[in-house]
Amino acid sequence: MKIFISVDMEGISGIVDGSMVSSKQGDYAKGRKLMAEDVNAAIEGILSVNPKAEITICDAHGAMNNILPEDIKHKDAILVRGRPKPQSQMAGIDSSFDAAVFIGYHAKKGTQNGMMSHTYSGGNIESLHINGVEVGETAMNAGIAGYYGVPLVFVAGDIAVTKEAKEVNHDIETVAVKEAISRVAAKCIHPAKAREMIKQGVAKAIKKKVKPLIVGPPVIFDIRFTDAKKADAASFIPSAERVDGKTIRITHDDYVKAYHGFLAAIACATAFS
Ligand SMILES: [Zn+2]
Repeated sequence: MKIFISVDMEGISGIVDGSMVSSKQGDYAKGRKLMAEDVNAAIEGILSVNPKAEITICDAHGAMNNILPEDIKHKDAILVRGRPKPQSQMAGIDSSFDAAVFIGYHAKKGTQNGMMSHTYSGGNIESLHINGVEVGETAMNAGIAGYYGVPLVFVAGDIAVTKEAKEVNHDIETVAVKEAISRVAAKCIHPAKAREMIKQGVAKAIKKKVKPLIVGPPVIFDIRFTDAKKADAASFIPSAERVDGKTIRITHDDYVKAYHGFLAAIACATAFS
């Protein structure tokens, strides 16, 4: 058994605002510890089902070097750190994995009562539609897993992202560790209890049969930026089509190549901001 874990930070137990998720903020050291502990709980859940399971963890937040390697208790786990990297928040996944698990995830930009809601790059992206459906990071990254035939079986985060995950596929097991009452405030379950819920939820999820999310072909990414200047810059990509003032379109038969076009578009937008 091989399990892939992608770990974002906004949906980690006990975290409610930028003070714990930005390396420039004073409580960041506490945030990265909380992040590692939610991952350790997921690993415990996996190992309770199969003590020999092979586990790869991908740090999927910000500079993607948040989890301190020694904070992962399971010595046989592989930790993918740093960025940029191919497949970004899903780096390390391939067709040898049996299931994907998302920890610390958050809802797409603009979601009411979505904990620190945004879509991949808060300052750049107004919305992302894939094949006509507006998605957040959960569906976008489930599509990468699905490209390799790997099902997303579990999502932990705030209540809003668990609802978003159920819209992707109702069979996905979810655990809500907090209820956001604004974008940057939440009713939080005690981390110890949240970790127990994650452990049990993951153990249940990896025993389920869930269908991988297969998108296209063709795969169409409609990327709407927060400003026309960003779309101007992103339209320098040879395959990009300009849809309107703030939107460009990337089309490819291969999901990961389309996704890499999305990453390149953000890099262009950021370079000129
Ligand atoms: Zn994040």
